[in-house]
Amino acid sequence: MAQLIDGRAIAEKVYAQLRGEIAELKASGVTPGLAVVLVGDDPASRAYVRSKDKMCRELGLHSVKLELPAATTQEELLARVEELNRDATIHGILVQSPPPRHIDEGAIVRALDPAKDVDGFHPSNVAKLALDDPSGFVPCTPLGCQRLLVESGIEVSGAHVVVLGRSMIVGKPLALLLMRKGRGADATVTVVHSRSRDLPEITRSADIVVAAIGRAGFVTAEHVRDGAVVIDVGINRVEDAGAPKGYKLVGDVAFAEVAAKASAMTPVPGGVGPMTIAMLMANTVKACQQAQA
Ligand code: NDP
Repeated sequence: MAQLIDGRAIAEKVYAQLRGEIAELKASGVTPGLAVVLVGDDPASRAYVRSKDKMCRELGLHSVKLELPAATTQEELLARVEELNRDATIHGILVQSPPPRHIDEGAIVRALDPAKDVDGFHPSNVAKLALDDPSGFVPCTPLGCQRLLVESGIEVSGAHVVVLGRSMIVGKPLALLLMRKGRGADATVTVVHSRSRDLPEITRSADIVVAAIGRAGFVTAEHVRDGAVVIDVGINRVEDAGAPKGYKLVGDVAFAEVAAKASAMTPVPGGVGPMTIAMLMANTVKACQQAQA
């Protein structure tokens, strides 16, 4: 039976470390500031923004929550981003995804000051990840996956990691991150996606499987070899008449059958999710530190 990788406990460890760094910054007269911009009223996005704001407050960060109506135009949003770029009390800016359809998300991301792009989506930060430049910002979810592995004492160096999914938010940056040289990296990485042939055969050859495809329970026992480590990034809503909200959240991994084969795995919820917010806080502190240097 797999050992559970407790994302909440590891996130707490990250926060303990960040508290020290935040205290140092405050002692030198600066408080790290994060602005989260939400356009529209998508309930899931609203919940994410709330939890980011709450975490900022718990850590004593300066938090600005900008809630704009769904009818906000591209120009209005760009103007708000520009204001935040110029605001010296704000070190990190995040525009919650997905924005309403009439907004060109790529243009908004490109308008962010890369030094404040704590989500790591700006082309300049994507390039820095590919170029191994440590001053760049790496997207929070892949960074959280790597930290989970490191803190759990799982050897990544030399391991064969198969990443399911090639999105710019999770799969692609995670592959770049794990194939870098250094601690928590040096992996042999394979990325599979919806066009991959013989997918179960490939995932069965992995020491570490990371599932980030957005399909509930897609990864089953036939995808995983005995003793593999399984990281489940997926967050999927499935109907559950017994649940108070009528649905529950499940990952991309069929938990019970995979847990019977894996040596370690993350639960959903309570695995990668808490680490994503922790890494957002870490990136905000890093942005503030770099702004002082
Ligand atoms: P995307 O929809 O952007 O990408 C999904 C990827 O999975 C694509 O590369 C797609 O392939 C691939 N894929 C889809 N279906 C299959 C299939 N049947 N077989 C093989 N590959 C497949 O999703 P995201 O990367 O944004 O998110 C993935 C999951 O992670 C979602 O459940 C999301 O909710 C969750 N997530 C969780 C976060 C957290 O904090 N825990 C943060 C971000 C995301 P192709 O490119 O060929 O279409």
